[in-house]
Amino acid sequence: PEFISVNNLADVIGVRPAQFVRQMEDMGFEGVTYDHILDAETAGLIAAEFNFEPIFDTGIDDLTAAPEPEDKSALPPRPPVVTIMGHVDHGKTTILDWLRKSSIAASEHGGITQHIGAFSVAMPSGKVITFLDTPGHSAFLEMRRRGADVTDIVVLVVAADDSVKPQTIEAIKHATEAKVPIVVAISKIDKEGVHPEKVKQDLAVHGVNVEDYGGDVQAVCVSGKTGQGMLELEEAIIAQSEMLDHRADDRGSVEGWVLEATTKSHGRVATALIRRGTLRPGDIIVAGTTWARVRTLRNEAGVIVDEATPGMPVEIDGWKEQPLAGTEILEAPTEQKAKDVVEQRLERTETEKLGEDMTAINQARRELL
Ligand code: GDP
Ligand code: MG
Repeated sequence: PEFISVNNLADVIGVRPAQFVRQMEDMGFEGVTYDHILDAETAGLIAAEFNFEPIFDTGIDDLTAAPEPEDKSALPPRPPVVTIMGHVDHGKTTILDWLRKSSIAASEHGGITQHIGAFSVAMPSGKVITFLDTPGHSAFLEMRRRGADVTDIVVLVVAADDSVKPQTIEAIKHATEAKVPIVVAISKIDKEGVHPEKVKQDLAVHGVNVEDYGGDVQAVCVSGKTGQGMLELEEAIIAQSEMLDHRADDRGSVEGWVLEATTKSHGRVATALIRRGTLRPGDIIVAGTTWARVRTLRNEAGVIVDEATPGMPVEIDGWKEQPLAGTEILEAPTEQKAKDVVEQRLERTETEKLGEDMTAINQARRELL
């Protein structure tokens, strides 16, 4: 209803009308009677004062993610999603660049190295690893806030000539808290007079016990400059991933995350990581308060691909508005449904904002009285 009487609203909220009127007077309303008629907005604001969440009965169900299946053993395996962490200047970017170049050189159509938030590397065995580019990025914080840690494995980069440093310790803490297993990459191994054994000892002090030091954490010596040890690093990641047995449903409604979003010559695009289902051109997806009918999908080399399956990063175009990094992507069955859901979410955001503003105003007013 657009309007409601004081009496009826008190009834809905479950407080006595007299108490309700007193609250309204506290808020600055004058000459209130029980049959005083309130518009929807005012009613919502007063209700918020009673910590009453207004109910949105627009008859539209929001899109929701499917529950995680308890038994995933029958589902197809998916690539592990890996984040590279470590102290500044220890060689993270150099390692990522080496991996990215090798992945693009290996892709059939070549293409130029692009900076997109994630990329996949195919191993000679055909196994695929997905690397995320921007740890600590706001998108990751946002996803973590929602309880979604997209990272399966942390590659902890420690320079052989510098060993464990403050940000190394921070990365260990982060991985431990998120319960994400670590693979250690001892970097800059091409440099003269470096001490990989010292790195292993220093790591043990901080609770990371590598294989030849009585633990089960894999450690690989690498150079992002020469490529030495990189294949072994990839193999160590695959071994770790096979132990964890990452699987996901590639059928059903598509789900994923927006990693980053920007505008390119072909329009608004978002780099997404698919979590479930298979995304194809023509599919309709909602992300936060915008939606898209997917026109084209591109991989990290800018090459158009037919579909994106779980664990695969992909660039999606066709967005009505720019999506926000860190928002969840959910497939909608129809364009109308996508529009309805977006409109409802926008309305909800506005009302919540209004409610927060009003609560703050009322708080300030009370303090003045
Ligand atoms: P990040 O801050 O961890 O991303 O580190 P960078 O990848 O930017 O590397 C920092 C510096 O170390 C740069 O000058 C690199 O050229 C150098 N560097 C990185 N990896 C290696 C390596 O494997 N060998 C050698 N010799 N130098 C490296
Ligand atoms: Mg860097």
